[in-house]
Amino acid sequence: MARYVKDFSEGDKDQKDLLGGKGANLAEMTRLGLPVPPGFTITTEACRAYMRTGAVPPELRVEVTMAVRHLEDQLGRRLGDFHEPLLVSVRSGAKFSMPGMMETVLNVGLNDASVQGLAALSGDERFAWDSYRRLIQMFGRTVLDIDGDLFADALDKAKAARGVTADVDLDAADLRTLVDTYKQIVRDESGREFPQHPREQLDMAIVAVFDSWGTERAQLYRRKERIPDDLGTAVNVCTMVFGNLGPTSGTGVAFTRDPASGRTGEFGDYLVNAQGEDVVAGIRNTLSLADLEDVDPAAHAELLQAMRRLETHYRDLCDIEFTIERGKLWMLQTRVGKRTAPAAFRIACQLVDEHLITMDEALSRVTGAQLSQLQFPQFAPGDGADRVLLTKAMPASPGAAVGMAVFDPETAQQWASEGKDVVLVRRETNPDDLGGMIAAVGVLTARGGKTSHAAVVARGMGRTCVVGAEELVVDSAARSMTTRGHTVNEGDVIAIDGTTGEVFLGDVPVVPSPVQRYLEDGLDVALAEAPDDETRDLVRAVHRILEHADATRRLRVHANADTAEDALRARSLGAEGIGLCRTEHMFLGERRVLVERVVLAADDAERTAALDALLPLQRQDFTDLLAEMDGLPTTIRLIDPPLHEFLPDLTELSVKVALAAERGKVDERDVTLLAAVRRMHEANPMLGLRGVRLGLVVPGLFDLQIRAIAEAVAARLAAGGHPHAEIMVPLVASVQELRLVRDRALSIMAEVSAEQGVTVDLPVGCMIELPRAALTADRLATQAQFFSFGTNDLTQTTWGFSRDDVEGAFFSQYAANGVLSVSPFETIDVRGVGELVKVAAERGRATRPDLTLGVCGEHGGDPESIRFFDSVGLDYVSCSPFRVPVARLEAGRAAV
Ligand code: ADP
Ligand code: MG
Ligand code: MG
Repeated sequence: MARYVKDFSEGDKDQKDLLGGKGANLAEMTRLGLPVPPGFTITTEACRAYMRTGAVPPELRVEVTMAVRHLEDQLGRRLGDFHEPLLVSVRSGAKFSMPGMMETVLNVGLNDASVQGLAALSGDERFAWDSYRRLIQMFGRTVLDIDGDLFADALDKAKAARGVTADVDLDAADLRTLVDTYKQIVRDESGREFPQHPREQLDMAIVAVFDSWGTERAQLYRRKERIPDDLGTAVNVCTMVFGNLGPTSGTGVAFTRDPASGRTGEFGDYLVNAQGEDVVAGIRNTLSLADLEDVDPAAHAELLQAMRRLETHYRDLCDIEFTIERGKLWMLQTRVGKRTAPAAFRIACQLVDEHLITMDEALSRVTGAQLSQLQFPQFAPGDGADRVLLTKAMPASPGAAVGMAVFDPETAQQWASEGKDVVLVRRETNPDDLGGMIAAVGVLTARGGKTSHAAVVARGMGRTCVVGAEELVVDSAARSMTTRGHTVNEGDVIAIDGTTGEVFLGDVPVVPSPVQRYLEDGLDVALAEAPDDETRDLVRAVHRILEHADATRRLRVHANADTAEDALRARSLGAEGIGLCRTEHMFLGERRVLVERVVLAADDAERTAALDALLPLQRQDFTDLLAEMDGLPTTIRLIDPPLHEFLPDLTELSVKVALAAERGKVDERDVTLLAAVRRMHEANPMLGLRGVRLGLVVPGLFDLQIRAIAEAVAARLAAGGHPHAEIMVPLVASVQELRLVRDRALSIMAEVSAEQGVTVDLPVGCMIELPRAALTADRLATQAQFFSFGTNDLTQTTWGFSRDDVEGAFFSQYAANGVLSVSPFETIDVRGVGELVKVAAERGRATRPDLTLGVCGEHGGDPESIRFFDSVGLDYVSCSPFRVPVARLEAGRAAV
């Protein structure tokens, strides 16, 4: 039983771990009886063994010998033979697709002898030499690490010498000469001959594919896509079929639906008389599938049949690579295709309507990240007079991007790191542009179709992208481009529309997206305003899937909102309560002075006066908020931030007093104030006198807030409302703290009830944002009716990271050396912080089974974190109003 090698006829699509995505799907297509050239897959296990030991496992060498032998017997041809040679491609293919990231070598097995055999076999000498020069070129570049431009330049020279522009115009003799030139390049650059032995070619190519897993750009891509570094890649060895055998041959890529818009119908690019990457590289302009129907109706019909077969089999959008060799169709690759956010929603609903998937599946095929992309603004429709259209090209990935034009990936990264928005403009992109594409807000290319590298990668990462802008003359050396009489230099602002393909000079105003319109104002308004059928279809799809998410999810979704205005917006976006009302936001402006007086009061009378002034203001805030949130839980957090935020700045005040002293006009009040500020100055305010500590130290402050809440509730009850206020105590570390506050709350509520003649009995609970609180949750639960996890502070206090400082200080370093793959402030650190959440939930509920559990940190709106919160049994997540729809969707996805 082979350990490291599997024939295409042995696997299936579920073995992606072992065979990689490409290998598993080649096996699946073979199983389905589709025309796949025979071949075998070297497993990821072999690659991992190679990475572990730094050497090819000896068993692998033997298994490859046997597999090649099997292929040769099957086809009746021999690798490198003078007569009827067998040629193979050596193709990388990891578990997760990494477009253009890794290496593939075609035509392996050609040498000085077998090139003659190939010429005889095909009856086409030109083709044989073209294939040979391609092998040396690809092998030289990817296996021997020779600068690819050397080969490209030699090819250009050969074309120039013949006075032609396309490589198809070179004849056999030209190509034969080119092969000699290429061999010389190999000799000069690598210090060795181009390997003539086919098995040596094969072995070297396999190792090169293994090695391509570890290249810098592959690592960068994995980090961006959060793909683990230790998976390794499989290697597929596949019998060559030839799209470069003259006018009845060609190669293409196809999608079973439009991956950009989600439109139904087949869709693709085809290039006559071409091989491999020619289509994707955008070297020549391609034909559409409709054109292919004219050129070769039989092959076209067979292709369409295969595409339908694949789509009903995978029950999803598939993308496909195919080659036609003298009228015979060959399938070279398929996979479930990447798609844009609008396409994801539309296709999911189409597939439901076509009875291919259920609504639950439709829900699991869209993501919160995609929904949030659809929420972003778009360019305002204009009459054309208000903006300068530079060109209109192919929309490859939607969005509205405005930024400064840059013409190389290094500048893109540099400028982006300085906080500038940049649009990366390239003639075409290749994998070396990846860093620049990540840094840019948008990508624009002059060449290539919707399946070009730029388009595929941009779609994958949700970056706005326009491709194939042939009117653009891009001059990377001069850092400029010209089109329609305009010259755009590096740093000039341009705007690209990934939905229409338009490119404008200068800034262009943006408007809310139709999906955002729907989320805020409802289906009818959005449908009425939508400009076209496709937009209406998209809005309906989002609506259907979100409704299903709402019906499916277990987690409730609340919003963080501090004012009646925010609360209204949160409700319209679907929030079912307020999980966090930050009362400190009510102490801005002139109220800040009142708080300052409370804190610095010289005596009780002064303090009481300040508190009395604040009471009616706070009461009104809460009354308004509770009116807006009538009938829904509204969790109000008592004042939390560090003391110094309410005091005059120490330095400024010192300077003021010093200057006054110089002029001999000292204000005694300032001097007293300065002394107080000095006394209260803290080295580490975030770990200082804040939250419940402040409430226990400054008499009357919490009392004021609790009274304001209780009186607001009484007022709402009297007005016939249904207020559901809850009182939340921040930064609790010990049950004693909570008991003191709770006792005060109970007696104030009793007082207010007596005064107003109504029953005010509000739940009191606490934040869990300190490790000690999480660990003593069983005790806290004796005093708390609910917990709300403040995961921002909990992350900060668990890691000992200052969340305000880390980003600039060392996170980029930590990301680069792999200590952190994602910021723990963005996605919950499940192992550490998550464990505390889990422990606290368990211990809290052990004491009080009906304890309500929620989360109100940024993580409440983060897709991955939401899954985690669902899994540990929290009752709700609370996030910013804008993220509420994303949280609804993700909570639904977590439940299916
Ligand atoms: P990628 O993962 O970058 O798409 P592939 O392994 O699919 O790389 O190969 C690169 C190109 O070579 C593709 O266009 C593919 O269709 C083509 N190709 C790969 N193997 C063969 C083969 N056996 N015969 C003909 N073309 C091939
Ligand atoms: Mg491919
Ligand atoms: Mg906090």
